[in-house]
Amino acid sequence: MKKVGFFQSIRLKFIIIITLLLLFPIQVIGAYFSQQLETKLNENFEESITNNIDILNIQLEQAFSKERTEDGQTSEDGQTLEEEVQSILNDFNAENITELLVVNSKSRVIGATEDSDQSKVGKRLPLPEIQRTLLLGRVMEPDTKVDQKGHRILVRTYPIYQEEETERREETGETNGNEKQEVVVGAIYIKASLEGVYGQLQDINRIFANGTFLGVSISVLLGIVIARTITKPITEMRKHAKIMGAGDFSQKVNVYGRDEIGQLAVSFNELNDKLKISQATTEGERRKLSSVLSNMTEGVIATDHTGSIILMNEPASRLLGQEIEDVQGEPLLSVLKISDRLDKITDLNDKESIIIDFSEGDQQLLLKASFTVVQYEMEEMNGYITVLSDVTEQEKIERERREFVANVSHELRTPLTTMKSYLETLSEGAWEDKEIAPRFLDVTQNETERMIRLVNDLLQLSKMDNKDYKLHKEKVNFIGFFKTVAERFEINQDDHIHFEHHLPDKEVLVWIDKDKMTQVLDNIISNAIKYSPEGGTITFNLEVKKQQQKLHVSISDEGVGIPKEKLEKIFERFYRVDRARSRNLGGTGLGLAISREMIDAHGGEVWADSKEGEGTKVTFTLPLLKQPQGDEE
Ligand code: ADP
Repeated sequence: MKKVGFFQSIRLKFIIIITLLLLFPIQVIGAYFSQQLETKLNENFEESITNNIDILNIQLEQAFSKERTEDGQTSEDGQTLEEEVQSILNDFNAENITELLVVNSKSRVIGATEDSDQSKVGKRLPLPEIQRTLLLGRVMEPDTKVDQKGHRILVRTYPIYQEEETERREETGETNGNEKQEVVVGAIYIKASLEGVYGQLQDINRIFANGTFLGVSISVLLGIVIARTITKPITEMRKHAKIMGAGDFSQKVNVYGRDEIGQLAVSFNELNDKLKISQATTEGERRKLSSVLSNMTEGVIATDHTGSIILMNEPASRLLGQEIEDVQGEPLLSVLKISDRLDKITDLNDKESIIIDFSEGDQQLLLKASFTVVQYEMEEMNGYITVLSDVTEQEKIERERREFVANVSHELRTPLTTMKSYLETLSEGAWEDKEIAPRFLDVTQNETERMIRLVNDLLQLSKMDNKDYKLHKEKVNFIGFFKTVAERFEINQDDHIHFEHHLPDKEVLVWIDKDKMTQVLDNIISNAIKYSPEGGTITFNLEVKKQQQKLHVSISDEGVGIPKEKLEKIFERFYRVDRARSRNLGGTGLGLAISREMIDAHGGEVWADSKEGEGTKVTFTLPLLKQPQGDEE
C-alpha cells in the first residue's frame, strides 16, 4: 500500500481548516478595526488641527479688524497687518502642521509660519481652494494629497472674517440705517502631515499582524496536536489493514476512546476476528479440497470460461504426463489433444464425456474425460471442470468381453450350422442311404461332442472367472503322477509319434489338485500330438530348479511351430494360430487359456517357445513343496 504523502494527508487538511477558521474572522475583525481606527485617528487629527486653527483664527480676526492708518499701521503699536500676522504666526505652535500661510482677500500671502516657505510671503497664491474659501467663506473640506516625497498630507483652507458695518438699503433704494456683516478678509491655508497618523495606524496594524501570526502559529501547533489524536488511530488502523491484507490476523488495533474513531477501532477489531475465523475456515476448506484433489484417483482440471487451465491436480498431471506449471493458462482442448475434434471450448457444453487415446508406442493409455460446466446460480458460465479417468483396463476388458461374446457365438454357430445342414440332408432322405447316413450321423455326433466340450470349457472358465471353484490340493509326487498321465497318450499313439522322457530319478513333491493338473497336462500334451507330424518325437522334460524352488515341466514337439509374435497370444481365449486347422482337429481354442488359469491358481507360470517349422516347447512351473531340512540333496 502506498504511504499517504503529507500533502494528501488529513493532518494537513485539518491544519488548513483550523488555520482558515481562525484566520478568516481575524482578518474580518482586523479589516473592520483598521478601517474604524483610521477614520477615528483622522477625525482626532482633524479635530486637533481645527481647534488650534480656531484659536489662531480668533487672533488673526482681531489683527485684521484693527483700525489702521493709511500706510497700514495701527494707531496703538504702529505695526502693519503683515507684521502683526507674522508675529502671531511666530507664536503659533501647531504640531503636525508642516505649512501654514495666511493670505489676504486678494490671495496674497501676508504671513507664514517658520516651517513654511517664507519666499511665498508677499506673493499671490492663486490656489483654487483658497479662491473658493475667499469667495464662499467656508472651510473647505480636507483634501488628502500625496506630496513629492510620497508623504500623505492634509490640505485645508479656513476663512478669516471681519465684522463690517454696511448701510441697509430698502427695496425702494432708500438707506435705512447701518447693519453689521461678516466679510471674508483672508484665509489660512494649511498643510498637515498625516504620516504620524498613518505611522500610528501602521504600528497598530503591525501589532495586530504579529498577534494574528502568533495566534495562527499556536492554532497550527494545536491543529497538529489535534490532528495527530485523530489521525494516529486511523494511521494505526491503516497499518493494521495492511498486515491483515498480508494474511496476519494475530494483532489488534488500540482503542483510544469511545468516540466515533474508537467505535471504528472496535468494529475493526471485530472485523479482524471474523476475518480470522473465516480465513481459518477457508484455509481448512482449501486444505481439504486440495487433499481431496490430490488423493483422488481421477485427474481433475479446472478452466476459466475461455477454456484456459487454472488448476490441475497431481493425478491429472500424472495421467497427461505434463507438469502443472507447464499447462497453467494453456487451452484445455490442446492439452487434451482434442482440438481436432472440437472447434471451441463451448462445444463441451453438449458433451458429457469423451474417450481420448493417449497411447504412445506399446504403452496403451485410454482416458475418459467427463466435462461439467461450472455455473453459479443465475450467473453466466464460469468455466469447466474436467475429470480424467484411466479407462485403459476397463476398455480392454470391455473389448475382450465383446470379442468373447462374438467368439462364443461364432464357435457355437459353426457346429450348429454344420449339424443343421447334415440333419437336413438326412431328413430329406439321406437317412435311407446306408453309406451316407452313418457318416453324416458321425459328423453330427462329433460336432455335438465338440459343442459339449466347448460349453464345458466355457463353464469352467466362467467358474474360474467368478472364483467359483475349489482346488483340492494334496501332496503329490509329480514324477509318478506325470508318468501315469503321459502313459495314457503313449498307449493310444501306437507308433505314429515317439515319446522321450527326461525325468528326475527322485520323487518331486508338489502341492496340487490332481484333476486340474491332469487337465492341464491333457491340454498341452494333446496339443503337442495334434500339431506334431507323423513320426515326430515329443519330449517330456521335468527339471527341479532348486534356487527358485520350482519344478519346470516342458513338453516339446517337432510340429508346425508358432510364429514368435503369436507366442503370448495362444494363451488367450479363443486364440488360434490357424483357426480352420484347430477346428478340424477338434480344438475349442480355450485349452491353453484354461491351463494358464489353473497353473496360475497353483502359483506357477506358463509360456511357450517355438521355432516355426521346427517345433514348439510349452513350459510350466510349479512351486516345490517345502521339505524338512536334510531331505533335500
Ligand atoms: P486349441 O483347442 O485350438 O488347440 P488351445 O488353447 O489349446 O486351443 O491352443 C491355442 C492355439 O495355440 C492352437 O489353436 C494352436 O494354433 C496353438 N498351439 C497350441 N499348442 C501348439 C503346438 N504344440 N504346436 C503348434 N501350435 C500350437
